[in-house]
Amino acid sequence: MQRRALLALGLASPTAPASPQAVAPARPEVVASFTILGDFVRQIAGPRVSLRTLLALEADPHEFAPRPSDAVAVRDAVLVVRNGLGLEPWLDRLLRAAPPRGRVVTASDGIGPLLVNAVPDPHAWLDPMNAQLYARRIGNALAAALPAQAAALQAATEAYLARLARLQQRCADRFAAVPADRRVFVVGHPGFGYFAARFGLEMLAPPRQAGAGAVAALVRQVRARRLRALYFTGPEDAALMRRVAAEVGLPVLGRLFAETLSASDGLAPSYEALIRHDTTLLVTGMSA
Ligand SMILES: [Zn+2]
Repeated sequence: MQRRALLALGLASPTAPASPQAVAPARPEVVASFTILGDFVRQIAGPRVSLRTLLALEADPHEFAPRPSDAVAVRDAVLVVRNGLGLEPWLDRLLRAAPPRGRVVTASDGIGPLLVNAVPDPHAWLDPMNAQLYARRIGNALAAALPAQAAALQAATEAYLARLARLQQRCADRFAAVPADRRVFVVGHPGFGYFAARFGLEMLAPPRQAGAGAVAALVRQVRARRLRALYFTGPEDAALMRRVAAEVGLPVLGRLFAETLSASDGLAPSYEALIRHDTTLLVTGMSA
């Protein structure tokens, strides 16, 4: 606890010397770019680190304007965790402008990216198999950044990897129970390519830059594939999907989470909860 806080609580004498030794050493700070990467760090390191996530809940990782305090945090952190695959150009600029004192780990390193119009799709974490590669890489980076706690961090990584493997298997079993010709869904934000590929699903999405034609394009896809339910992925496509739903007379079942966790009392407070939630919603819609 900071001396200031101790004073406020009446626990520290105001005359005590304010030497640095009098203050408990702060936990090492780890910076993650967005909330899902932050959750990987939290699941592995727990209270061993102080976690700072640059993007708030619901912030769009594709577009972000870092504050000066973010630049300081990135510079001083023992570890900076980024996704890579072109998701965070703003973080690349920050790292160039304020070279970090600690380590930087790119969680998607080693993952063969899906290409969309010849550009890597950054949403690799939505495949739970890739999430295991992310967790392995982040766990190794945490152990390297905090060598005194390496053994505990490696053990925590292994435990988390086992959970993610079980999660992947449970989701695979649930999609396998859906008739093959119904394993298709449509979303307004085309972030589910890796998820769809892992579980043998077909993702339909409006063509990029469809603009005013997006509703018509989606309506055609929904009718042609005889879909029975719709979803939205966030504030940016909720209105679009409601218009499509009204046009075709289908329900919007709910929100598929792709690139942000929910608040702790919401539907997707962790990566595992997010994948479970998305799987349940999609299986429900495909089975309708
Ligand atoms: Zn995205």
